[in-house]
Amino acid sequence: MKIVGLTGGIGSGKTTVAGFFKDLQVPVYIADDAGKRLMKTSEEIRNKIISLFGQAAYDGNQPDRKYIASRVFNDAEQLQKLNQIIHPAVETDFREWVSRQEAKYVIYEAAILFETGSYKKCDLSILVTAPQKLRIERLQKRDQSTKDEIRQRMDNQWSDEKKAELADFIIKNEELKDTRLQVEHIHNKILKAGQNC
Ligand code: ATP
Repeated sequence: MKIVGLTGGIGSGKTTVAGFFKDLQVPVYIADDAGKRLMKTSEEIRNKIISLFGQAAYDGNQPDRKYIASRVFNDAEQLQKLNQIIHPAVETDFREWVSRQEAKYVIYEAAILFETGSYKKCDLSILVTAPQKLRIERLQKRDQSTKDEIRQRMDNQWSDEKKAELADFIIKNEELKDTRLQVEHIHNKILKAGQNC
C-alpha cells in the first residue's frame, strides 16, 4: 500500500482536498487531529508535556491548548521539543492505522511534511497551494483571525516555492470544481502508475 503525503500552507485547503480524496474512497489520516487526540488519551505524552511545560499544561486529562500554544509561540526550541514528543507518537499511531486499511493507497495529511522530513517516509507527496490573498480571506472567514495573526503563522512555514521543489504533485486550489478535477486526475495517475510510482 502506498502512502501519499498531503500538505500545504495554512488556509491552502488541505482538509478540503483530503475530503475530495475521501469521496473517492481513499482512506485519509489527518496528523493534526491524531496529535490532538493523542495529547488527550496518551498518558506517556501527558507526562512528557507536563515535564516540559509544568502542571499548568493540563487540567486533569485535558491539555490546556491555549497555555501550551503560548509556551511555544515565538519559541522555536520549545516548539521543536513539543513536536519531538508528539510526532513519534503520531507516527506509531499512523502505522497501526495503515495496517488496518485496505486500499491501493492512503493519504497522510500534515500541515508540516517537508519541514519535518516526514515526506521521505511517503511514497509520493502532494502540495496544495492557493494565492496568499485567498488564503488570508478564507482564514479570516473561518477562524475570525486577524491578518497579522495569519501572516505571522505563514511566516513560520516554508514558502510554497521551497515545498514545490520536493512535491510530486501540486494542486492549485482556487475554484472548488477545478480542485476536485485535479484530485480525480491525481487519483487516476496514482492508481494507474501502480508499483511504478
Ligand atoms: P489549516 O492549515 O488552517 O488547517 P487547511 O489548509 O486545511 O487549513 P481548509 O480548512 O481546507 O484549509 O480551508 C480553509 C477554509 O477555506 C475553509 O473554511 C474551507 O471551507 C475554505 N476553502 C478551502 N478551499 C476553498 C475554495 N477552493 N474555495 C472557497 N473556499 C475554500
